[in-house]
Amino acid sequence: MFDRNGKDGSEYNVKNIEFISKSSPAVGEMIRKEYERQKNNIELIASENYCSEAVLAACGSCLSWKYAEGYPYDRKTGNKGRYYGGTKFVDELEEYCCDKWREVFRTDYHVNVQPHSGSQANFAAYKAIIEPGDTVLAMSLDNGGHLTHGSSVNFSGKLYNIVFYDVDENGFIDMADVRGKALKYNPKVIVAGASAYARIIDFKAFAEIAEEAGAYLMVDMAHIAGLVAGGVHPSPFGYADIITTTTHKTLRGPRGGLIFCRPELAKKVDSAVFPYAQGGPLEHVIAGKAVCAEEALSPEFKVYAEQVVKNCRAFADEFIKLGYKIVTGGTDNHVFLIDLSDMPFSGKDLQDRLDEEGITLNKNCVPGDKRGPKETAGVRVGTAPMTTRGYKEDDFREVAKKIDGIVKAMLKEAK
Ligand code: PLP
Repeated sequence: MFDRNGKDGSEYNVKNIEFISKSSPAVGEMIRKEYERQKNNIELIASENYCSEAVLAACGSCLSWKYAEGYPYDRKTGNKGRYYGGTKFVDELEEYCCDKWREVFRTDYHVNVQPHSGSQANFAAYKAIIEPGDTVLAMSLDNGGHLTHGSSVNFSGKLYNIVFYDVDENGFIDMADVRGKALKYNPKVIVAGASAYARIIDFKAFAEIAEEAGAYLMVDMAHIAGLVAGGVHPSPFGYADIITTTTHKTLRGPRGGLIFCRPELAKKVDSAVFPYAQGGPLEHVIAGKAVCAEEALSPEFKVYAEQVVKNCRAFADEFIKLGYKIVTGGTDNHVFLIDLSDMPFSGKDLQDRLDEEGITLNKNCVPGDKRGPKETAGVRVGTAPMTTRGYKEDDFREVAKKIDGIVKAMLKEAK
């Protein structure tokens, strides 16, 4: 929807809305308003991005109604493994998609491209390697982990015995704590990966601990996958036994998930996705994922990934210059947390106020948060979407100053 220079040069959404409005003017109008919001707002949500017209078009293609339960071939017999006829072309597509993703991450791991989302990828990944009641060592939601990493309100927290490792007083993952808990609690799997963590994750160190503890290492690289693909974050391939990701964050593809695993886990992973967790794969989204993979292989994608990180550093540095507390004191990737613990208002207050001013971000807990997940003592910001729209370091410095002006006004009002 935005071209790679950040210009809204496409008629794609406008045309789509015309088609939709013919059947439902109400839905067409709601999408039009959201399209305008996305076009006009400064989007800082770290888990979002804008995908290309090609990805959108693939997701809106005739593949949408093709049923293809199963896989292009049966791993046990080598025979065709679909439960429907007419799958010749989606078989080719799915295999092409798998090949492209292996190329993106320069790996010979097995890949399953069917998970409908990151959460479903994690659901199937756990199912492939552990049983209900087994122990999982992961990072808590409060410290930057994801719901599916053991939150008590999520399937992961209900099905498995969860132990959380901690971050240190500066917000960095405490690797001594990871090792201590791994050796004390004997988890079957250690999860590395996060939704709100601004620093490089040391996959080699995690792998060494997992080996010592006799645990699987599962890496959820949903947030950083685009940076790994672009070569600006170390890769978990070669270290992790199983790797999950979404395709819609820094990878800027369609909404969906992927699972990579060592070849010996392939059968278990495939059967955990289908028939255990899902029915028919979304072949239109798989087409979108294939297009996304090809885009991620382009030299332009590498430039984008590098710019995401440069922008994030400049953004965080500007906030620090303006006197803000940033968890871990900076960032190595596409995201960071602004700590508002000392402010008279919450992360939610700031999120709501910025919404009114055309800046979109989300409230987020910070380590040791006393305000809780509904209010929060922090906000999370990310640079991927606006980098896709062509923002450079100076643009982000300006956005930091704009947010600072709004915060100052809120402080005045709070007096
Ligand atoms: N894993 C991580 C680290 C995430 O940040 C997210 C989403 O934010 C997910 C998994 C889940 O992805 P989805 O929203 O597609 O279920």
